[in-house]
Amino acid sequence: MTPYEPPNRLPVTTTGGWARPGWYELLEEPEREGRFGPDDQRELFDDYCTLAIADQQACGLDIVTDGEHRRRGWIEAITAALPGLQRRPATRRLGPVGYDMLEVYELQRPLDDLEWMWDFVGEYRFLAQRTDRRPRVGMPGPYGMTTELDFRQVYRSRRECAEAFVPAIRRHIEELVAAGCDYIQLEEPMTPAYAEDDRTAASMAQVINKCVDGISGCTFTVHVCFGSFRRLPYAKRTYRPLFPALLDANVHGFSLEFGGREMAEIEIAGEWDRDRLLSAGLIDIKTHYAETPADLTERIRECLRYRDPERLEISTDCGLRRVPRNLALQKMSAASEAARKVRADG
Ligand SMILES: [Zn+2]
Repeated sequence: MTPYEPPNRLPVTTTGGWARPGWYELLEEPEREGRFGPDDQRELFDDYCTLAIADQQACGLDIVTDGEHRRRGWIEAITAALPGLQRRPATRRLGPVGYDMLEVYELQRPLDDLEWMWDFVGEYRFLAQRTDRRPRVGMPGPYGMTTELDFRQVYRSRRECAEAFVPAIRRHIEELVAAGCDYIQLEEPMTPAYAEDDRTAASMAQVINKCVDGISGCTFTVHVCFGSFRRLPYAKRTYRPLFPALLDANVHGFSLEFGGREMAEIEIAGEWDRDRLLSAGLIDIKTHYAETPADLTERIRECLRYRDPERLEISTDCGLRRVPRNLALQKMSAASEAARKVRADG
């Protein structure tokens, strides 16, 4: 594995997508109605991503993404582009937000011939041409890709379905690395399980390894969160069942959420091998409270009890897509200020 090289000490970054501007909602309807031609659509998303990159730079982030806006969520457009799907609307559509409001797709044929999922290279090139910060691409991991699928007509278990994505994910990773991308984060939220699922930390590590083994010249992290469906989590919020087994994944580090859990279980990072990177979610995306630089300085110092500063990134618990943009700007500017203070204090 190529060693991880941070762009600077205690780099600040986000996980997942950047905050959507409020005005984008006004464009969704005409877009759905087909009033945008392909060139108009490209221009819309180019502008939208340019803004996301500028926002991140203005907040002082050291590692940036393209905002992932083209995906219409972290995975939605990527899933919708898969072959052999039948959309199944949620059976409950009214009332308080719940995970049973998620629209899923029934998978109706095997994914054996799946070669292409998404234009990750196009996203990377767009980003790399527009930033002097370190670019990173987020990619749904093999289990992550099963999130919106009911695969039970085709596969016996979630692992079998996850394995079906391995060749395409691996190919996309190789293409990204060939295009110059040296940092990829695989995203693996803890999707609620079907009874027949066999997702354990050990099987996650094995399937992830099939995607990354033997690929050098790139830093890999795996983001594992408890999900955020319209900003509500949907999995039991503990990492204990995952570690140490997940350390069998041949990746540089893990992006985990601690901010929304008031730093619970941060001591797990102290049980890892010394080289492993913690991309620590210290900014809670599920609260309207804007963490102050003092709050985040305290959290960074707590992480430093368990990780060397060369193996620690300051990040968000999950994507900022549903966080109001003004709040996201406030939170991430505070994170950069906190990181600067801790760096200056040595
Ligand atoms: Zn997440």
